[in-house]
Amino acid sequence: KLHNMVLELKGNIRVFCRVRPILPSDTSSSSSSPEDIAAEITYPEDSKSIQLRSSTTTATGNIRHETHSFTFDRVFNTTASQRHVFEEIELLAQSCLDGHNVCIFAYGQTGSGKSFTMEGGLGEESKGMIPRAVEQVFRVKDAMKSRGWEYSVEGQFLEIYNETINDLLSSSTSAEPTKKHEIKHDLKTNTTRVTDLTIIPLTSPSQTKTLLTLANKRRSVASTLVNEHSSRSHSVFTLRISGLNVGYPEGGVEGTGERCEGCLNLVDLAGSERLNVSFGNGGRGVGKERVKETQNINKSLSALGDVIAAMGSAAGTTAGNNTNGQQQQHVPYRNSKLTYLLQNSLSGNSKTLMVLNLSPLAVHLNESLCSLRFATKVN
Ligand code: ADP
Repeated sequence: KLHNMVLELKGNIRVFCRVRPILPSDTSSSSSSPEDIAAEITYPEDSKSIQLRSSTTTATGNIRHETHSFTFDRVFNTTASQRHVFEEIELLAQSCLDGHNVCIFAYGQTGSGKSFTMEGGLGEESKGMIPRAVEQVFRVKDAMKSRGWEYSVEGQFLEIYNETINDLLSSSTSAEPTKKHEIKHDLKTNTTRVTDLTIIPLTSPSQTKTLLTLANKRRSVASTLVNEHSSRSHSVFTLRISGLNVGYPEGGVEGTGERCEGCLNLVDLAGSERLNVSFGNGGRGVGKERVKETQNINKSLSALGDVIAAMGSAAGTTAGNNTNGQQQQHVPYRNSKLTYLLQNSLSGNSKTLMVLNLSPLAVHLNESLCSLRFATKVN
């Protein structure tokens, strides 16, 4: 039984890896064919491993080939559809209705497909994990009525840019002074909230979609360099779920009065690339602001990695030694806004999924290897 418990706890952290296809825009700037610019990536048949081959020139002028192999809970190759990816995520997403705190992160360098994975592209088929998860939550919420459960769903949407929180659902215009949002953790109730943050009741998938579209529009109007800004901030969309067992009076069944609170955090992380890569100019001409942004991104991504890694090992040791329930591993939540904000969703009975997005291009091979190594640490 103890063994199962360890597995169960370990099973609360999952890592998927997804490689985006080569796009027409990847080849348009050069006369190369897709084969010329592709990294050498192979996908063993188990759907859980990925292999990248690198070639480096040694000091003596020889070329050294190396194969780097990684194993995750699931690997999706370039042909995986959004529906296919979501099939592996839906149970996790809906477990917020059972009172779990769930986090789904998209990690990877800019241009690797994080937003595509989370938000999606145009058209029904290319809808991403956020709209699909929202639909699933509403579907299950409706189905639970027949079991006597009534749920309310609320949403908040924020971004963390340079360790500052911006409320993406606030309707205040930029002419008004922006509110300073702080993260407060209440030890008594063990809840975390952000001060002065807009929280909106969510009533249907289409209302939620309208809300998110509006928020993203505001986000782009507010920043001068849209894509750069969004790739350099973490965006966190949170569904807060609260359920009450009311029974069904029309059937003469009394409710149990049981309550259940959970949340689903859908996080599009800032690009994980190192400074010189995002500019392709060897870091020349990079301003102080940019350096500070990058330091903040690195700091928060490594804090996230540390927290998830600590969660994984805490799960193993606590279950293994938990004869008196005293054993507690230190988890460094306070090292970044992101981990502090999400601490309740990165502990206890919470469930975490990291989707590692990779570029298929040879020029990005080193960044891809960095991402893969990061993910191995948390896996
Ligand atoms: P990121 O958010 O990591 O910066 P994007 O999601 O913007 O990356 O992806 C970069 C480009 O690749 C976008 O044009 C996006 O539409 C496209 N793309 C990413 N993943 C896929 C995919 N699985 N299928 C088709 N196009 C994709």
